[in-house]
Amino acid sequence: KLARLPYRKTLKEFDFTFQPSIDEKLIRELATMAFVYRAENVIFLGPPGVGKTHLAVGLAIEALSQGMSVYFTSLSRLIEDLKKANKENRLEKRMRIYTGPKLLIIDEVGYLPLDDLGANLFFQLISARYERGSIILTSNKGFGEWGELMGDTVLATAVLDRLLHHAHIINIRGNSYRLKDRLKTGLYG
Ligand code: ADP
Ligand code: MG
Repeated sequence: KLARLPYRKTLKEFDFTFQPSIDEKLIRELATMAFVYRAENVIFLGPPGVGKTHLAVGLAIEALSQGMSVYFTSLSRLIEDLKKANKENRLEKRMRIYTGPKLLIIDEVGYLPLDDLGANLFFQLISARYERGSIILTSNKGFGEWGELMGDTVLATAVLDRLLHHAHIINIRGNSYRLKDRLKTGLYG
């Protein structure tokens, strides 16, 4: 299918005991995909390495196994792609790649700031999917920082208003799984 996952890791491979701030029951409930039928969104927030992408990929694999159309991208790749389409006067057609799938995953919101056009295109996409199709989004930034990220607090508020209206927010507070062995051996303080 058209998923384009960055790696293949299932929810079964996720160690919930390592990340006790995550409500495992909520993740199991999301894995039923009922939220997709209700066109709700899922937002994973937290610092690098805590499992945001893994959980998004795991849910994507579940959705695919249920026969749903899924598209996975990062925010920077998404915006680069829409900018290119906009320049070539085929934005409307290209937008369908992102509005069409039942489930759209936008990974890594917050690593790179958006310029005016980028912020505008992001708003257009979020508006187009609002109450029509689910989004799973991951971010290392709190919502209060989105104004700075988008270079425009009014636009950021409008995006968050739509994104968060029907959303499950999973705030992950914990250590990076990537660093867990180093934390154990004390190399990291
Ligand atoms: P990020 O939050 O930065 O997106 P990832 O989800 O990509 O981090 O996690 C980084 C790496 O650690 C991945 O290989 C992922 O599979 C693994 N990982 C993270 N958390 C867990 C966990 N609780 N159990 C098993 N593997 C994990
Ligand atoms: Mg990630």
